[in-house]
Amino acid sequence: MMDKRSNLNKSYNITTFGCQMNEHDSETLAGMLEELGYIENANRREADVAIINTCSVRENADKRFFGTLGQLKKVKEERPETVVAVCGCMMQQQHIIDTLKAKYPWVDLVFGTHNIHQFPSLLNNVLNERNKVVDVWDNGGDIIEGLPAKRMYPFKAYVNIMYGCNNFCTYCIVPYTRGRERSRHPGEIVNEVKALAASGVKEITLLGQNVNSYGKGSNFTQDFADLIYMLNDIDGIERIRFMTSHPKDLSNKLIHAFQKCDKLCNSIHLPVQSGSTEILTRMNRKYSKEDYLQLIEKLRDVIPDIAITTDIIVGFPGESDEDFNETMDLVEKVRFDSAFTFLYSIRKGTPAEKYKDQVPESIKHQRFDRLVDRLNEISQEINKSYEGNIVLVLAEGSSKTNTKMISGRTVTGKLVNFKGPAELTGKLVPIRITEGKTFSLNGDIEK
Ligand code: SF4
Repeated sequence: MMDKRSNLNKSYNITTFGCQMNEHDSETLAGMLEELGYIENANRREADVAIINTCSVRENADKRFFGTLGQLKKVKEERPETVVAVCGCMMQQQHIIDTLKAKYPWVDLVFGTHNIHQFPSLLNNVLNERNKVVDVWDNGGDIIEGLPAKRMYPFKAYVNIMYGCNNFCTYCIVPYTRGRERSRHPGEIVNEVKALAASGVKEITLLGQNVNSYGKGSNFTQDFADLIYMLNDIDGIERIRFMTSHPKDLSNKLIHAFQKCDKLCNSIHLPVQSGSTEILTRMNRKYSKEDYLQLIEKLRDVIPDIAITTDIIVGFPGESDEDFNETMDLVEKVRFDSAFTFLYSIRKGTPAEKYKDQVPESIKHQRFDRLVDRLNEISQEINKSYEGNIVLVLAEGSSKTNTKMISGRTVTGKLVNFKGPAELTGKLVPIRITEGKTFSLNGDIEK
């Protein structure tokens, strides 16, 4: 085992690309490193251990990863004892490993999404034997409980409830990089959340690629709604959020949990991806435009003030003008609070890679601009409707753009900026909204 004292004054830096799952994996890596005696270093070039946690879903992920990795080459030349480690979804793809071996032979450690728990011993191997280590598992195996985590905030935390995905949307690489669905036992999750509450955490975000299928295929009987009810009873926790939901698995039981569980926040991220039923079929999403609209109606019937956000892919292979107009029509009908929009781009190893009818880039961009303009207008209209209202904001600390301002989120997930002392961080603060903008709200503390 590694001696903690031998790591005194040694530092680490983790660069994270991608989603909340990756951010949470990085928190686990940071927790392990701190248990080994390392301290965080904000400068990647000065750290003794530099880790890049990669994503294969987001746009230009490959370019951004190799660009960042390239910057570390000079560091390795000047300080060869620096350990450069890479992990995350991209490492689950053989062509990436082949590229690393051929063009980046100075990388010390490569590991995947399934063996993060092994990181301390892999690092030990690199340090003690000065070996290059490439250890990527093909599938997840058992869920490892009890890993340490260094959380980004003391008052809010991510909690993984399941890993992997069984859905095989034709554009997505996740089922190949994160493996099949495995759910954590509800007892383990409840214990983790109780411990978080005892340490001062007020808000938890439950994470999974498709939280709505939590429990399926497991050896316990609770489903996702049951889990929410169990967590809602934990003292000290004031807000429960979750992501991501697949529309095909969103149950009536969960919709009613929004009504019954006072801590479940009135917001849902429900990726639609396209408004065209034909494109949805080609994406293997297993719902139609009408199914999605009915789901929204049901949600709003039960929780009229729920905030709904989504993901939309523009220019999926075969998307015609009519298909795109169906998406614009769905956007008008739903009026999303906000949306992540993506230009479709090929992910190696997915079925859609082989689709012949790829949409020309110029058309994709025209459609994308039209869609984003309309989404932004709607977001601003919705945010303006908050003006004059008093909302409860969980203060998260100084605003990124103005250190005199504090920023935080409403129960509906809206970003709010207001003037106030830093001591409010971690507290629920009543704010009167003075201005609704496209991506955020401004307000004043309500005395
Ligand atoms: S549900 Fe579809 S898009 Fe989401 S992770 Fe699974 S395969 Fe990917």
